[in-house]
Amino acid sequence: MERLTRRKFLQISGTTFAGAGLLVGGTKMIQSTLSANEKNKGVVKIPSYCSICFWKCGLIGYVKDGKLWKLEGNPIDPLSRGRLCPRGNGGVGQHYDPDRLQAPLVRISNRGGEEWKVTTWDEALNYTSQKLVEIKDKYGPQAIAVFSHGPGGAFLKHTLRAFGIKNFSAPSFAQCRGPREVAFELTYGEIIGSPERTDIKNSKCFALIGSHIGENMHNSQVQEFAEAIEKGATIIVVDPRFSIAASKAKYYLPIKPGTDTALLLAWINVLIQEKLYDRDFVDKYTFGFEQLKEYIEPFTPEWAFVETGIEPNLIRETIRELARYKPASFVHPGRHVNWYGNDVQRIRAITIINALLGNWNRKGAFFKPVKMEIPKYPYPPYPEMDYEVVYNPNSKYPFAGEEEGLTQGIRSATITGEPYPIKAWIVYGTNLIQTLPNQKETIEAINKLDFLLVIDVIPSEIAMWADVVLPETVYLERYDELNISSFRVPFVGIRQPVVAPPHDQRDGWWIARELAIKLGLEKFYPWKHIEEYLRYRIESAGLSYEQLKTDGIIIGEEQPIYVDDGLNLEFPYTNTGKIELYSTQLAAKGFSPFPTYERPPEPPPGYFRLLFGRTPVHTFSMTQSNPILMDMVAENEVWINSDVAETLEIKNGDYIVLKNQDGVVSNKVKARVTQRIRPDCVYMYHGFGHTSRRLRRAYLKGASDAQLITRYDIDPIMGGTGMNNNFVTIEKV
Ligand code: SF4
Repeated sequence: MERLTRRKFLQISGTTFAGAGLLVGGTKMIQSTLSANEKNKGVVKIPSYCSICFWKCGLIGYVKDGKLWKLEGNPIDPLSRGRLCPRGNGGVGQHYDPDRLQAPLVRISNRGGEEWKVTTWDEALNYTSQKLVEIKDKYGPQAIAVFSHGPGGAFLKHTLRAFGIKNFSAPSFAQCRGPREVAFELTYGEIIGSPERTDIKNSKCFALIGSHIGENMHNSQVQEFAEAIEKGATIIVVDPRFSIAASKAKYYLPIKPGTDTALLLAWINVLIQEKLYDRDFVDKYTFGFEQLKEYIEPFTPEWAFVETGIEPNLIRETIRELARYKPASFVHPGRHVNWYGNDVQRIRAITIINALLGNWNRKGAFFKPVKMEIPKYPYPPYPEMDYEVVYNPNSKYPFAGEEEGLTQGIRSATITGEPYPIKAWIVYGTNLIQTLPNQKETIEAINKLDFLLVIDVIPSEIAMWADVVLPETVYLERYDELNISSFRVPFVGIRQPVVAPPHDQRDGWWIARELAIKLGLEKFYPWKHIEEYLRYRIESAGLSYEQLKTDGIIIGEEQPIYVDDGLNLEFPYTNTGKIELYSTQLAAKGFSPFPTYERPPEPPPGYFRLLFGRTPVHTFSMTQSNPILMDMVAENEVWINSDVAETLEIKNGDYIVLKNQDGVVSNKVKARVTQRIRPDCVYMYHGFGHTSRRLRRAYLKGASDAQLITRYDIDPIMGGTGMNNNFVTIEKV
C-alpha cells in the first residue's frame, strides 16, 4: 500500500484556480501607501505580522509623523493574542539598526576579506543572473543549491524552481525540528507543525524534555504556559539545567545529558506494566501493542536509573502523574530536537507515550490544527527536472525532508563533489556560519564555490563570505507571503509595510521577480506587484483584501479541533491506518520499529558536555545588532556548576574561554556560576560571538557555541545533525 503522507495529501487537496484575479496599481502602490502615511501628521496604525522569529504573531505598527514609533500585538490574532514577546516589541530596533545592509554589494577582494563595491540593483542582479546562467550552462541547474529560512524566501524559491533548481534546504529541518516531524509522521501519519498543536492551556499535566518554554519565547505558547501554571497544571521538567520552566515545575528531573530515551523507555515500561495506559484507545487505534509490550520489558526504571541518574521511584511517580490526568496530559514533542544523531528514535518514544495516554486530538494534549483554504496563484508549471537531489544520494536517509532538504548534505556534496558538483549557493535569511555545525567545513565548502549570493538584512558572517550581497527590507517595511498557519482557528494574516526602508533596500518578492526577469523567466510572474498576487489569492478565497489590509487578520469559521467536540479520530496516512507503535515504515527500511537507546559518549576527564539554547530576547544569530535587544542582553554567559567553578577557581562574572575536544578555543565569555546545572555539562545561549566586523554592536560580544560545535552526528533515519556531542574544557582568562 502506498503511504499517503500528509504532505502529499495537502498537495492533492490544494485547489487550483484558473483565470485572473482583480489587479491593483502595480509597483507604485507601496510607495503611495507609505507616502500617505509619512505625510500624515499624527499616529497611523498599520497591521502586519512579526518576523523576529517564525511564530508570525500579528502586530500593529504605530507610525507617528512618518516615523516608526512602537509595535503592539494585534488583539484579533490567535498567535499574539494582543501581546508581543520582548523580541517582538524590540522589532522597532531592526528598522533603526545603523549596521543594516544599505545597498547591494559586490565583492572586490578574495573571499574572507571584507572589501566591497557598493553597486546598483541593476548591476548586482545582472551580475548574479550572469553567474547563475554560466553555472547552469556548464554544470546544469543541479549545481546550484539554495538555503532559505522564513516566509520571505517563498518568492525566491519560486524563481529558482522555474530556473530548474531542486536542491533546496532549510536549517529548520536538519538542525532543528526535523526529527520531531519525521517521528510523528511515522507514528501518526501527521506532523506536529509550527506553531505546535500542543494544548498547553487546557492541560492538567505535561512533561517538558529539554524544552525551555519561557526562554524559548514562542508567544502564544508561553502565554498558554502561564495559563496552565495559573490553573495548577502539574508540570514535569526533564533537563540537565534548572531552566525557567523547571522553576515552575512540580517535578524536576536533572537527567544526565543524552540519556532521555532511557527515561522515556522506562516510562513506557511503567505505563504498560502497571496498566496505566488507555486500554480502549490502544485497542481501537494503535498497531503493534503486543510486540511493544514484549520489547519494553527489560527497560525498567531500575535499568533507566543507571543510565539517567533519575531515581526509579521518581520515574514511576512522574509517569503515574501523567497517566492520572490522561487524556489531558502529554509529553511535549520539543522543538530544537537534533541532539545526538539518534533523535528520531527518541521522539518516537515520545509519540508512543502520548499514544498510550490516548491523547491525540484530545483537549489538554494535542489539538487538531485547522487551516484557512486559500487558493494558490495559477502559475505555469515548473520545468520537469529528472536529476536526484544532491543531499540524499540513493535515499541514504530514507526519511529526509522532501521540501526542506538537508543543509549538511548540500555542504558535504559541495566539499566532495559527490554525487555531483555544487558550484553556487544562494542563501536567504540564514546565517550558515552560525547555524551549521563545524564552521571549518562550511568555509571549506564556500571556497569550492564559483558563486555565493546572500540576501539578508544585516551583514551576517555568511554575508561577509558572499560574492554578491543583496540587502532586503526588514519585515516592517515590506510585503511578503500570506501567513496561513495551521492553528486553533483558520486564519490568514498579511505582512505589509508599516514604514519605508531607510536606504536602498528592497523587498524579497521584488528581488525574486527582478531576478526572474533577468533570467528570462518573466512568464512565471504574471503579476507586477505583490499586491496583485495577494489580492488574487484572498479574493479567490471569497475574502476581502481591503478587510485583510485594515485588520491584518481574517479569522475563518471555527471548526472542531478536539475529539471532545465531535471530531472523528482517523489515521489515514499511516500504512496500517492506525497509530503505529510498531513502525512498519522503519521496519521496511531496516531500522528498529521500536525506539532504541544508545548510550552517549562520556566527556573525557577534565571536559564538560557543551549544551546550548535560547535567550528569550534574541532569535538565533539574527538579532544581535538590534540596538533594543542588545540593550537587554548584550552577550551570553556560560553556566558552570558551582562546585566545578570552585575547583577551577572561577567566580561568577569572571571571563573564561572554552576549548573543545578538537582544540578550537572560544572568544572570552563570562562565567555564570550556579547550582542550577549538573556538574558534567556547561550551557550557553546560542547566537553570540559574532565575527563580522560590520556588526559593530555585536562584534566579539560573548562566545559562539557554533564555533565550538565541530563534531556532529547524523541521524541515519532523516539526516539531521545532532550537535550535543561536543566537550569543552574551561580556562580562566
Ligand atoms: S514570538 Fe515574539 S518574536 Fe516571534 S513572531 Fe511572536 S512576537 Fe515576534
